[in-house]
Amino acid sequence: MTLQEMEEFVTSLGQPRYRAEQIFKWLYKQGVDDFALMSNLPLAFQRQLAEKGLVTAAVTEEGAREAADGTKKYYFRLLDGCHVESVFIPEERRKTVCFSTQVGCAIGCAFCATGQQGFVRNLRVAEIVDQVRRIGIERKTRITHAVAMGQGEPLANYEATLKAIRLLNADYGLGIAARHLTISTSGIVPAIYRLAEEDLQINLAISLHAARDDLRSELIPLNRTYPLPVLMEAGRHYAARTKRRVTLEYIMIDGVNDGEEDLKELLALTNGWLCHVNLIPYNPVPGTGYHPSASATLRRFYQTLQRSNVAVSIRQERGAEIEAACGQLRQRLKQMKKR
Ligand code: SF4
Repeated sequence: MTLQEMEEFVTSLGQPRYRAEQIFKWLYKQGVDDFALMSNLPLAFQRQLAEKGLVTAAVTEEGAREAADGTKKYYFRLLDGCHVESVFIPEERRKTVCFSTQVGCAIGCAFCATGQQGFVRNLRVAEIVDQVRRIGIERKTRITHAVAMGQGEPLANYEATLKAIRLLNADYGLGIAARHLTISTSGIVPAIYRLAEEDLQINLAISLHAARDDLRSELIPLNRTYPLPVLMEAGRHYAARTKRRVTLEYIMIDGVNDGEEDLKELLALTNGWLCHVNLIPYNPVPGTGYHPSASATLRRFYQTLQRSNVAVSIRQERGAEIEAACGQLRQRLKQMKKR
């Protein structure tokens, strides 16, 4: 619920409007889920809230793995028994959560563990927000950044993702700055145009991964519906409309998208607009047959883009030993349960 929705709810129970803010403070600032522990609420109201079946915990931790660098992957159970994964990435100045927006995914990217599992359902707003909230509670830290880059295509679950983003951003919610919130998409073009019209200064990341249509269609089947020219036009529109730099994510896969021609095509796509290329060492997923590019190749891409005045970075490899790529832990646990 937004604060306004919660105010309507509490007033419908005969309570003053400010009770909503009190409840939100317990949930988001104190990390308290149990109404009985919300000590400034009248006892009768605490009981009333519990009797109404109001759910404060939409996800429950069922497993987790922590890497030596502090990256921690969570395996969350939802109320209907489905599961999603989220990742906590601690750095000196930022504490980031990568959250999921769907159970499974219908996009079916060739390099992705989630893509191999198929689509189950969209997440509800509470299930998205609670991944971030719960990790903050468990790690006893304030989450400073959140990215919709876990399982699922966020823009295929547009309404819930946007409402969750607003709750993550709201002062009465988790209070994460809009500029620290990112939505990553495989390229649903109409939704990118829609997002450009929202009054939110959030970041957009496009999973590019290939700079020519035939290869990109092989890696991301959605490219057949929204090929590169229309996708890049949408990216340019988002950058121009929001004045925000669009990130182009590029997973480096050995012998697939890391040749000289690929580099030339990538340079051409980035020419003359407000974008930033994020080169990502591929985190191998069993069964895909793909392997990470050699580090010399990664460096060559980086240096050539930099020399051509393209904003570029290399994503630091985190959590490979805990299978931090989206969908990997879920897949592994399912295999273990079958054994
Ligand atoms: S990479 Fe993202 S969009 Fe592609 S299949 Fe995996 S979860 Fe879906």
